Amino acid sequence: MQQSEAKQEGTVQAVQTVEKEEAKEMQKRPDLKDMTRQELREFIKELGQPAFRGDQIFSWMYGSATEVSQMKNLPKQLQQLLSERSFLTCHKIERVQRSKSDGTRKYLFRLADANTVESVFMKYKFGNSICVSTQAGCRMGCRFCASGIQGLARSLSAAEIAEQVLAVQRDTKERISHIVLMGTGEPFDNYDNVAKFLRLVHDEKGLNLSLRNITVSTCGLIPQIRRFAQEFPQVNLAVSLHAASDEVRNQLMPINKTYPIAPLLAACREHAKETGRRTTFEYTLVRGINDSQAHLKQLSGLLSGMNCHVNLIPMNPVSEKSYRGTDRRFAAEFCKGLSDRGIPATVRRELGSDIDAACGQLRLNAQK
Ligand code: SAH
Repeated sequence: MQQSEAKQEGTVQAVQTVEKEEAKEMQKRPDLKDMTRQELREFIKELGQPAFRGDQIFSWMYGSATEVSQMKNLPKQLQQLLSERSFLTCHKIERVQRSKSDGTRKYLFRLADANTVESVFMKYKFGNSICVSTQAGCRMGCRFCASGIQGLARSLSAAEIAEQVLAVQRDTKERISHIVLMGTGEPFDNYDNVAKFLRLVHDEKGLNLSLRNITVSTCGLIPQIRRFAQEFPQVNLAVSLHAASDEVRNQLMPINKTYPIAPLLAACREHAKETGRRTTFEYTLVRGINDSQAHLKQLSGLLSGMNCHVNLIPMNPVSEKSYRGTDRRFAAEFCKGLSDRGIPATVRRELGSDIDAACGQLRLNAQK
């Protein structure tokens, strides 16, 4: 390398280091997007400004603004103050995969600290839905899932969960009406931030989303299921069951050793009774592990009489794992078997099959 080139490279590196340091400093400031409207009003008052400015900022953030300078009805002096004293979470789109067949889009976002998360945008007859991640990585270690392979990097803030919805709305220019918390991570392992996220998107000056259009999926953390029934009775609950016996569930989901099937189903019954809402059970069909006629009988016995619906998902192959998915034809038979026994069931529609990658795979591939 020529001396001048080396010098130039050194300068570039130095600039990058300064930029990284600046970014770190910025992230230490309070994140406007991580504040409820009330918190934002308080924050604005502390800056010596009238509280209604907090409402204006809130509306801008849930509209199109990604920077304070775009919030046109704020006085210049307040914009300046905010850019010095606060931070605004904004995800960078690292990759998008677009399905040609049905409009599904899979996003990989880069967060401010260089972690990545995935979200999926799906079009349905009833509206547009998004599947969001609640953690970067996961520590639950389900055997067929790509999300847990590298463990948990960290939990996401409420702002980082909400920003997935906002970034996708900005990119698609379409309104999202339904949210499922079924991306990477265990929502109930990040309960407080997930709860705040639900309040943020429900706010009438935010996305004004109906809580009834939101579904939280858990691997079955019982204490949080109980708390959730009290705090968010309008939000739908999905529980990843994946097996009808502790023997099989222990093999697929380590969490079953802490929260086995019997007390888990008792908590689900309680949740359904208290909220009046039907529990969804997710059942990933893993070839030769949980998809036989005997498993079918066991499962229908277990769920008989419950206010529930079973969502069957033929396992998406994950190259790092040895398990294989059940063929869709057998999945349809399994589904019919459940329906015949009085358990409402459907096989999850395959959306974006041309871009399909199992849960957490886009993120995993990006890190290789
Ligand atoms: N931690 C939450 C939400 C994350 S995953 C939970 O466990 O419910 C959403 C669903 O996809 C879960 O039911 C999960 O078990 C399932 N899943 C994960 N990897 C899968 C794969 N390779 N094939 C099919 N379903 C998978």
